[in-house]
Amino acid sequence: MSFQTAYRHRPSVVVAATSVDDVTAAVRRAAADGVPFDVQTTGHGLTEPLDGGVLITTAALDGVEVDPVAGTARVQAGTTWDAVVTAAGAHGLAPLSGSSPGVGVVGYTLGGGLGLLSRQYGWATDHVRDIDVVTPDGELHHVTAGNELFRRLRGAGRGVGVVTGMEIGLFPVARIFGGGLYFAAEHVRDVLAAYVDWTATVPDAMTSSVGLVPFPEAAPAPLGGRYVAHVRIVYTGDAEEGERLVAPLRAVAPRLLDTLAEMPFTDSASIYNDPPWPHAYSGTNALLAGLDSPAPLVEIAGPDAPMMCVVQLNHLGGALARPPAVPDSVEHRDARFLLRVISPLDGTDEAAVAAVHTELLEAVRTQTLGRSPSFVFGPAGCAGRRSTDGHVAARRRAAT
Ligand SMILES: Cc1cc2nc3c(=O)[nH]c(=O)nc-3n(C[C@H](O)[C@H](O)[C@H](O)COP(=O)(O)OP(=O)(O)OC[C@H]3O[C@@H](n4cnc5c(N)ncnc54)[C@H](O)[C@@H]3O)c2cc1C
Repeated sequence: MSFQTAYRHRPSVVVAATSVDDVTAAVRRAAADGVPFDVQTTGHGLTEPLDGGVLITTAALDGVEVDPVAGTARVQAGTTWDAVVTAAGAHGLAPLSGSSPGVGVVGYTLGGGLGLLSRQYGWATDHVRDIDVVTPDGELHHVTAGNELFRRLRGAGRGVGVVTGMEIGLFPVARIFGGGLYFAAEHVRDVLAAYVDWTATVPDAMTSSVGLVPFPEAAPAPLGGRYVAHVRIVYTGDAEEGERLVAPLRAVAPRLLDTLAEMPFTDSASIYNDPPWPHAYSGTNALLAGLDSPAPLVEIAGPDAPMMCVVQLNHLGGALARPPAVPDSVEHRDARFLLRVISPLDGTDEAAVAAVHTELLEAVRTQTLGRSPSFVFGPAGCAGRRSTDGHVAARRRAAT
């Protein structure tokens, strides 16, 4: 079962791996038969479905082992973030996890990994200590700093091989000041403008984003049926200082809901409250040097868009902008914002969705540095996807 339901892999063979040997054997089989292979953990990032070939699923390889003294966790190929957050939290530590606890650690980290603590600690992939990977020729490698494969894997997203396990860094974050500020539709433009200005004033310990979200009728009051600006906050300093830092945002307008409070990091999934159920979606993104005018976000993909669009602006910079200690493949570290747009495909015409998303990207083109491979969902976004060549190349390599 894939989280993304708009597309399905249609492989000739599925290998539900329960060991590293299963992965190695599956990749060797694909190479011997001259057919493509791919790997699926949760299906959150399913974008280019297999037609024939070998699909390796990793759900059964879900181990996580925390070393509290070293401040690391060793994860297997199919481990999801919720397991790492819980295991690390027992030692007062936190991983560089993202908005959704159900996302796979390996797929997320290979794409760069933009997390809840990312302005303070950087890209998740910058904190990988070692990787075990089966390359398309079926060979298992243990790679660390200094190895070219180690550089290519981290940030490349996909297409380099099948990772069977990795060691990642953990951080001493037991509690955070975090949650959300929800503003009604009439305040969305003011909130966006204030948010963009506010980001220039905050320390690296403050990681945040703003989402423009059309909540479905079925969502609980007071959000159900409303178009809302949702500011998400994660601050690792003390709560009093957090309150002071967010005061300019609270001053913009009355909030429909204000959930900011001190909380254990193990509750951090409540900050974004991403839908945990599988669904169909298409999305794309732009890494921006700046955002002179946030108006197009509302004018093109706002409440009057021809289909539901969820727009998100992540504040980057801080540790995300620093060069990694060990070189990796994350590009455009100087971006100040990540602009994302995503639409459900519940019967909506994909071409119409792509047209609106393209119009939004065109409106910010002059400030666009590139795209993040992690936030391209569905074929609609494939044109801008830097990792596609690697993915295809890996399949070609597997097929030769
Ligand atoms: C609701 C949602 C929230 C998200 N939130 C964030 C976020 O906060 N921050 C962020 O950075 N990203 C986020 N993402 C993007 C996510 O990190 C990518 O979609 C990622 O590819 C998902 O990995 P997966 O293994 O869960 O998904 P899958 O669809 O199973 O895998 C996606 C691809 O990753 C590669 N991959 C997976 N496992 C392996 C492996 N063992 N070896 C080699 N390649 C592998 C494969 O190419 C595979 O096709 C989010 C996505 C969604 C849908």
